[in-house]
Amino acid sequence: MPRKVKHLIIGAGPCGLGAAYRLKDLDQSDYLILEASHKVGGLATSYIDEKGFTWDVGGHVQFSHYEYFDKAMNHALGKDGWLNHEREAWVWIKDRFVPYPFQNNLHRLPKEDRDTCLNGLKKRDTHLKLNSFKDWLLSSFGEGLCELFMFPYNFKVWAYPTEMLNYEWVGERVAKIDLERIQKNIETGIDDVSWGPNNTFQFPKSGGTGKIWDEVASIIDLKKVLLNSKVTHIDWKKKRVKVGEEIFEYENLLSTIPLNNISELLEDPQLIASSSELMSSATNVVGIGLEGEVPEHLKTKCWMYFPEDDSPFYRVTVFSNYSPNNVPSPGNQFSLMAEISESHLKEVDQESLVQEVIDGLKNSKLIKDEKILSTWKLHAPLGYPTPSLSRNKALREILPSLEEKGISSRGRFGAWMYEISNQDHTFMQGVEWVNKKILDEDEKTFKIP
Ligand SMILES: Cc1cc2nc3c(=O)[nH]c(=O)nc-3n(C[C@H](O)[C@H](O)[C@H](O)COP(=O)(O)OP(=O)(O)OC[C@H]3O[C@@H](n4cnc5c(N)ncnc54)[C@H](O)[C@@H]3O)c2cc1C
Repeated sequence: MPRKVKHLIIGAGPCGLGAAYRLKDLDQSDYLILEASHKVGGLATSYIDEKGFTWDVGGHVQFSHYEYFDKAMNHALGKDGWLNHEREAWVWIKDRFVPYPFQNNLHRLPKEDRDTCLNGLKKRDTHLKLNSFKDWLLSSFGEGLCELFMFPYNFKVWAYPTEMLNYEWVGERVAKIDLERIQKNIETGIDDVSWGPNNTFQFPKSGGTGKIWDEVASIIDLKKVLLNSKVTHIDWKKKRVKVGEEIFEYENLLSTIPLNNISELLEDPQLIASSSELMSSATNVVGIGLEGEVPEHLKTKCWMYFPEDDSPFYRVTVFSNYSPNNVPSPGNQFSLMAEISESHLKEVDQESLVQEVIDGLKNSKLIKDEKILSTWKLHAPLGYPTPSLSRNKALREILPSLEEKGISSRGRFGAWMYEISNQDHTFMQGVEWVNKKILDEDEKTFKIP
């Protein structure tokens, strides 16, 4: 006999948990989450390694764009469960640190590079016809800045060259150019770090990012989250989902699993073909636990970007600065977490990766001869949903077709839109899906491009 449920949710990452949290908030009780893993949180989970160091799947920081999300976060951990930080981001280049945003702090560069960047900025063609992210970068920053920083850095992040990416995701993510301000900064030599909509963020006092989602799951009611329950088949005509031999019959279905996987579960050749147009990159995370106090030059830094090729990583987070409890003996140890992207155009040697990271940390003078207490590595095959040139067309084929079949697909890889794939966005995609089903409200975050 199939088990009947009104609202069925696939995946207990932030998106699925957001939907369930909202259902509970609206006093609904007829819902279930099916989760393949033995724990909740999806990509926003945390791990404690054998030596007691806590790690996330890459540097997770929370910049909220929503009041409802903020309230839910305080509900989950309590107001005292958080540590608040000022964003302090840096770029390591030419053997020195330059404050982020890079383009506002050119005064820190050697004179020759500074002049090249400034000339490029002055000569840039702001009316360039934009076909790709590469064109957008060139027309925004000019050739000098692009060759020195934007192109190599973005290849390291995305694992694809910028001509393969669209530019529609950029929005407020990249600081816009203000030439007068840049020139003034060069004249005064004063660091300009005030840019940005996101200059403060919060992080859980203990347990890493995963703690948030464990707590959200407990609020929801743990009996409604079925772990180790991997969906193996969906019959949209009968409105049934299979987990092994068990069958669940639903009225409303929210799927937060990757679009290519759902196309396969539906065994729909058209959807499978469209999904093959979607691009993604894998993320490798390497954590290094170290003995001693955090060195002076890293004391206030949150994360750093690395465009050059003497290190494999694009970003390193001083994870023990996010919370002293991310190390087993606070004050006596510190931790650095590196992220390395991977695609068929940017391969990674898993065997040598940890050593490459250690060498990269030394080449970038982040560490010298500190004793390494622990190394930890994780490979997430789907890390970043790539905003590729073919993405929007594929999404316009896939997402409406799923809706016609009565399946709402949301979340980081369920919607495959980088621009709405952070924790606050994905949680709210779940919340707003419920608002639509129950209150007939528009979904503001999720919009097919
Ligand atoms: C390297 C990296 C850095 C990030 N940094 C930040 C950051 O700084 N700030 C921020 O806010 N966000 C950040 N994020 C994004 C954040 O992790 C995501 O927003 C969030 O995890 C997405 O939630 P989701 O529920 O959409 O998807 P997921 O977290 O991917 O959850 C999907 C769930 O579905 C389950 N599932 C898959 N297939 C099945 C199946 N067949 N049956 C049942 N269950 C299934 C999975 O096990 C998983 O639990 C980062 C992500 C990465 C990878």
